[in-house]
Amino acid sequence: MSKTNASETCSARIPELFGSMVFNDHVMKERLPKGTYQALRQTMELGTALDTQVADVVANAMKDWAVEKGATHFTHWFQPMTGVTAEKHDSFISPAEGGTVIMEFKGKELVKGEPDASSFPSGGLRATFEARGYTAWDPTSYAFIKDKTLCIPTAFCSYTGEILDKKTPLLRSMDAVSKEACRVLKLFGKKVNRVTATIGPEQEYFLINKEDYAKRPDLILTGRTLFGAPSPKGQEMEDHYFGAIRPRVKAFMEDLDCELWKLGIYSKTEHNEVAPAQHEMAPIFETANIAIDHNQLAMEVMKKVADRHGFVCLLHEKPFEGVNGSGKHNNWSISTDTGENLLDPGKTPISNAQFLLFLTAVIKAVDEYQDLLRISVASAGNDHRLGANEAPPAIVSMYVGDELGAVIDALVEGSAYEDSSKKVMDIGVTALPNIPIDNSDRNRTSPFAFTGNKFEFRMPGSSFNIACTDIMLNAAVAEELRQFADELEKAGDFQAALDELIRREIRAHKRIIFNGNGYGDEWPVEAEKRGLLNWKTTPDALPHFTDEKNVKMFKDHGIYTRSEIESRQEIALEEYAKTIRIEALTSLDILKKQIIPAAITYSGKLAGIVAKKKEIGIEAPAELAQAREITDKTTALSRAVGALEEKLNQAPEETAAAAVYYAKDVIPGMEAARGIADALELLVDKKEWPFPTYGDLLFYV
Ligand code: ADP
Ligand code: MG
Repeated sequence: MSKTNASETCSARIPELFGSMVFNDHVMKERLPKGTYQALRQTMELGTALDTQVADVVANAMKDWAVEKGATHFTHWFQPMTGVTAEKHDSFISPAEGGTVIMEFKGKELVKGEPDASSFPSGGLRATFEARGYTAWDPTSYAFIKDKTLCIPTAFCSYTGEILDKKTPLLRSMDAVSKEACRVLKLFGKKVNRVTATIGPEQEYFLINKEDYAKRPDLILTGRTLFGAPSPKGQEMEDHYFGAIRPRVKAFMEDLDCELWKLGIYSKTEHNEVAPAQHEMAPIFETANIAIDHNQLAMEVMKKVADRHGFVCLLHEKPFEGVNGSGKHNNWSISTDTGENLLDPGKTPISNAQFLLFLTAVIKAVDEYQDLLRISVASAGNDHRLGANEAPPAIVSMYVGDELGAVIDALVEGSAYEDSSKKVMDIGVTALPNIPIDNSDRNRTSPFAFTGNKFEFRMPGSSFNIACTDIMLNAAVAEELRQFADELEKAGDFQAALDELIRREIRAHKRIIFNGNGYGDEWPVEAEKRGLLNWKTTPDALPHFTDEKNVKMFKDHGIYTRSEIESRQEIALEEYAKTIRIEALTSLDILKKQIIPAAITYSGKLAGIVAKKKEIGIEAPAELAQAREITDKTTALSRAVGALEEKLNQAPEETAAAAVYYAKDVIPGMEAARGIADALELLVDKKEWPFPTYGDLLFYV
C-alpha cells in the first residue's frame, strides 16, 4: 500500500484506530473479570500492591490481546539515566509437550523484570559486580504494542533500593506536589484527594533527506553538523514559520499522527517552525508521567516514520549553526481530581485568593530553585541553544503578562489596582479582572511564561527526557506549598495570614519576574543587578545540583537521596565530557580525511591550470590568487588541527575537571578549525566538496 493510501485509510478511521495498540481502560474493562478489573483500578488509583493471582489474570489477558494484534514478544520498557528508553525483548513462547510451544505470560513477569543492568550508567551507585537491578510495572501508564512487542512501562531500581531511572523520582515528585497542594486546598475548605501535575510537551524537530544525511559523518556520529558555511538564504525571510507544508512533509506528518494515535498519543498540532526544514508536533496535555512516556515514545516514532518517507528526523538541539535550534516547550500545570486547574484564575474572590497563593508558590519556587531549573536543561547540545539568538537566554526568569503583572505590582505596593472599583486590593475579597487566557502578546523570549492557565517552560532541549525538568519543578513547588501550608495551618485569622503571606513572598521574589525582551543586550546586565543566575554552560551549572539546600529539599520530600543526586550529577558531567570528546574526534576525522584533502586536490587542480596556461602564454591571475588563498587557509587549518589534537591529548581524567576543560579548551579549538573550514567551503568547487552543504540540507526537502 502506498503511503498516501495508508494515511487516507487512517484518517477515515481515527476513532477506531485511536489507542488500538494500547491496553487501556476500555480494553481492561472488556477483557478482565470484574473483580480483577476493580483490583487493578485500585492499584492504579491508590498505588496499592497488586496481588499475584490478580497479576496472573491481568498478564494473561494482556498476552491474549497482544497476540491477537500480532505481538510475539514482551518487554519491560524503562527510562534509564541515558535519557533514552530501554527495552529487552523476551518472546511469549514456553516449551510444551511433544516439541511444541504455548504462548505464555505470567503475572510475575508483568510485575517485575530483571534486565542485566550492568551497562547502564549508574554514576557510581552500583558496582558492575552487583549489577542486579529490577524493573517494576508502573500500572498508571498503560501497556502498549510497538514493533510486535508488548511494552510494559516500568520503573528501574537497584536491589539495594537506589533508583536507577528517571521515572521513579518523577512519580515521587508528583506525590510530593499532590500531598502539599492537598494540604493547602484543605485550608480553603476543599476536600481533594489528589492533585496531578499535567504536562503538554511541544516537540520540535528537523527533517532532512536520508541521502544527504548518509553523506555527513558529523550528523551520523554526533547528531549535529560540525561544519557548514551559512546558506545564502537562512531564516531571515521568516517564510517557513507556519508556512504551507510541503507535500512530502505533509505525508510524513499524516503518517506520524496515525502512528501516534494508534499508541493513544493525542498528537494535536503539526506545523512548520521558524528554521527551514524545522517542524513541531504538539500533543494535548496529560498527567505528567504519561505525557513523558508518550513524549519518549513520540520521539522514537518520529525517527521511524521519517525513515519510511526517505527522511531523517533530527532531534538534536542545534543541528545547524546560524538557524534556530530545537526545543521542547514544557507546558505545566497542576489540577485536582475534582477537575480544577489550580493555575486557572477564577472568577470569584475566593478562587482568586487561592489562585494567587498557587501563583505565589510557583514564583517563589522558580526564584529559589532557578539553579535546579537551569541544571535540568543543561547538556552539551542545549548549550548551543540557550543564549543563542533565538532561544531563551541561560538566565531563568518568569513572564506573567501585563494584566497579572499589574495585579502583582498592586499587591506589592498595597496600592489601588486599576479595576473598575479602584479599591485597594484585598486578597480574597476583591475579584481580579478576568485574565484573558492565551493573550496574543505573549512573550516568546521568556524562558518561563504564564500562558493563561499554565506555565510554559521553554528551556528544555528537543532531545531531552523532560522527566528531569518536571521532577525539579514539582519538587520546588511542593517545597513552597509545604512552607505555605505550615504557616497558614497555624494562623488564627486565615484571611489576614494569607494576605500577609502573599504580599511578603511576592515582594521577596519579584526579581524573578521579567516582562521585557529576554533577548535584549540589556537583560543580562539587569539580571545580574537583580542577583539572578546566568550559567552559560553545562559545567557551570551542574556542580550546583549537590548544593546543600537542594540536597535537603529533595531529601525532605523523599524524592532523591544524596547519593542519588551525586550519581546523577556525575552521569551528566560525564555525558557532557564524552559528547564534546566525540565531537572533537569527529571534527578531526572529517578535517583530516575529507576537508583538507578536498582543499589540497582543488588547489592542486588550480595550480595545474595556472601552469598550463602559463605554458601557452596566458596569464591566470584569478586561478593563482584562489590557489594561494586555499593553500594559505589549508595551512592554517592544518595548524588548527594540530592544536586541537594537542588539546584533546591533555584532557584531565577526573569528570568535573574534564567537563570544564572540554568547555573552556576543546570547544574553542573546534570552533577555530570550523571557522577556517567553512571559509574554505566557499573557495572550493562544489563538485570537490566532500558532503552536502547547508543549502542542500535545508532547502531541498
Ligand atoms: P501555545 O501556547 O504554544 O500556543 P497551546 O495553548 O495550544 O499552544 O498549548 C500548548 C500546549 O500546552 C499543548 O500541548 C496543550 O495541551 C498544553 N496545555 C494546555 N493546558 C495545559 C495544562 N493545564 N497543563 C499542561 N499543559 C497544558
Ligand atoms: Mg509554545
